[in-house]
Amino acid sequence: MAKKVIKRSWAEPFKIKVVEPIKMTTREHREKAIKTAGYNTFLLESEDVYIDLLTDSGTNAMSDRQWAGMMVGDEAYAGSRNFYHLWNNVKKYYGMPYFVPTHQGRAAEHMISQILIKKGDYIPGNMYFTTTRLHQELAGATFIDVIVDEAHDPTNEKPFKGNIDLKKLKALINKVGAKKIPYVSIAGPVNMAGGQPFSMKNLKDVYKLCNSHKIKLWFDATRAIENAYFIKTRERGYAKKTIAEILKEMTSYFEGIWVSAKKDLMVNIGGILATKNKKVFEKARNMVVVYEGLHTYGGLAGRDMEAMAIGLNEMVEYDNVRARIGQVEYFGSELDKYGVPYVRPVGGHAIFLDAKKILSHLPQDQFPAQTLAAELYLDSGVRGMERGVVSAGRDPETGEHRFPKLELVRLTFPRRVYTQAHIDVAVESIASVYQNRKNITGLKMIYEPEYLRFFQGRFKKL
Ligand SMILES: *Cc1c(COP(=O)(O)O)cnc(C)c1O
Repeated sequence: MAKKVIKRSWAEPFKIKVVEPIKMTTREHREKAIKTAGYNTFLLESEDVYIDLLTDSGTNAMSDRQWAGMMVGDEAYAGSRNFYHLWNNVKKYYGMPYFVPTHQGRAAEHMISQILIKKGDYIPGNMYFTTTRLHQELAGATFIDVIVDEAHDPTNEKPFKGNIDLKKLKALINKVGAKKIPYVSIAGPVNMAGGQPFSMKNLKDVYKLCNSHKIKLWFDATRAIENAYFIKTRERGYAKKTIAEILKEMTSYFEGIWVSAKKDLMVNIGGILATKNKKVFEKARNMVVVYEGLHTYGGLAGRDMEAMAIGLNEMVEYDNVRARIGQVEYFGSELDKYGVPYVRPVGGHAIFLDAKKILSHLPQDQFPAQTLAAELYLDSGVRGMERGVVSAGRDPETGEHRFPKLELVRLTFPRRVYTQAHIDVAVESIASVYQNRKNITGLKMIYEPEYLRFFQGRFKKL
């Protein structure tokens, strides 16, 4: 008998020490809950959710070391020792000498936008992130998407769909002039494109081009670890480098970074603004006192900063990031068995279902992704979120809906929280909804807030 090829699996590099019970609900219960929530999964009570894939933001399970760190929080108003521990690790892993803590990522975005942007400026970026672009616009800039075209094609299997298109960036520089571009705003992996990374080569090319025009690069390093993992596993020359080495090389091209610690750092709250530019640092340190708190706590408790400092040590461990992205890859390969369309290749933090394709009978102004997210919740209590026309908002000039090419439902994986069995339940639910897709009707918006409408918008079944 021929020897069978045995698959060798990986498993999580941790075991479970504390558990949190979750509630299983009936379809009847969920029907009431989603109606009360205006068919917006953001407005559901989390008690009514079985498997919560709404976001990976602040939903992480901390390690026993991080919890132990919470106990050594130094809650001094000024000069907490946890601040210095965190600052040292920010220097060590991001290579940035100057650091200001913030209560979360958008506070850092707010400060850096106000410091660097003048009214009438342009900010090129690789696609956009909701809060990032909003702060840039509120500071008076026009955001220009200069991501490669492939990013908008969910079937394109290119490995680095988060890359910047140098031709688009050059064209913008020629059109508006380098003086009108205070910085290029780069994120990786790109959330709105389905968690797609940029390559080190692309980053180097962008740096070279911008350097010749004296334009700085700023990095939304919120998910930089996932980008580093993709560089290690997909880009030539990086297989032998550690995640920490790749991260350091990435950040070396930037003048500064902002980070939502609620992602890579595996904590529940926190943010970072760090830079090589002393003048920018001094301005940020002035501003943080107005908006967040003293510059040695920035809206955080000492214990939170300690958990962040330890999270920085843990995030660069290869096994940790492999297990995280491995879970997303497993989800994708299970979905393939049922032929459910999603953005390919699978991203770093989430699966993005292609709602435009799944609910192809719904026009985009009936909110296919919003509809699909609600249907998924109805079927099994799995919560995802819309990333399509609702998230894209309205054009500030015309007031019309922005109709993005991608109309997606994002299923995001909290770090170290769910098991493979949870993943199986979610996949089977998606497959059932997919089979029944032709019977699904669209939604109408009945309440629309002015900013970031996806958070609080309400809908009605058509
Ligand atoms: C979450 C996130 C932000 C905003 O950070 P908050 O901590 O939610 O304020 C900014 N950029 C990216 C890429 C993010 O994922």
